[in-house]
Amino acid sequence: MSAAATPAGAAGLSPEEVLRFGEDPQARFAENLAHLEARISTACARAGRAREEVRLLPVSKTVPAHVLRLAHAAGLRAFAENRIQEAVGKRELLGDLDVDWSIVGHLQTNKTKPLALFARELHALDSLRLAEALDRRLEEQGRDLDVFVQVNVSGEESKFGLSPGELPDFLDQLDRFPRLRPRGLMTLALFSADLAKVRPCFVRLRELGEAARRGRPGLTELSMGMSGDFEEAVAEGATVIRVGQAIFGRRPTPDARYWPGFAET
Ligand SMILES: *Cc1c(COP(=O)(O)O)cnc(C)c1O
Repeated sequence: MSAAATPAGAAGLSPEEVLRFGEDPQARFAENLAHLEARISTACARAGRAREEVRLLPVSKTVPAHVLRLAHAAGLRAFAENRIQEAVGKRELLGDLDVDWSIVGHLQTNKTKPLALFARELHALDSLRLAEALDRRLEEQGRDLDVFVQVNVSGEESKFGLSPGELPDFLDQLDRFPRLRPRGLMTLALFSADLAKVRPCFVRLRELGEAARRGRPGLTELSMGMSGDFEEAVAEGATVIRVGQAIFGRRPTPDARYWPGFAET
């Protein structure tokens, strides 16, 4: 009875969720966002860039829909997921909110339909087969989609994305898909606490972006940088940073999907 009077009770949080997000997630998210905003501003100032040049894309994977509702109340208007099914489920539960949905993880060709229905952008375009399937689904829906081409700049085998050498030809081929609006490049840096090893990944993507832009002025964006390394990414010209844990707190399970150094246990 008394628990129902607390903010956590009111939001219907389980004990595990209270441990993870606190008694009052909305207040915690607002606090995290204020802190994050200050860090982004400092990183921009240090790089001689305007704060408006960098868009914060909140990565909401593993955060349940009812908790995301509190993040929306704290001011967020965009959520990015790395799995399409998870995005579909949350979007259904949060259909009454004004939210832009993005997909930031590898997408299988047979999962393009739900994405074409509602996503605003895809940060992980990594094959022509996917481009073709997406374009067809988008055509059916009469929708367009902003896409970022994922490049594997760290050379790790486990990662999705094109090799840098494949990029120019791939970009040429994208002209065949009128429903796709290529906005720029995306990468996942090496996963390392040693930022001196991470930084070259961002340098590489910046250089690839500069080269790509010579033929295609529309490719202005660089999606790079996460909670642990976005300051480095901003210094190298990131226009979108994809940040989860600095907003929502630590995820209970590590993301072994991309980083081989991460054990699943
Ligand atoms: C999870 C994820 C992020 C965000 O990582 P955090 O450590 O939570 O900031 C960024 N990009 C992709 C593709 C992700 O899967």
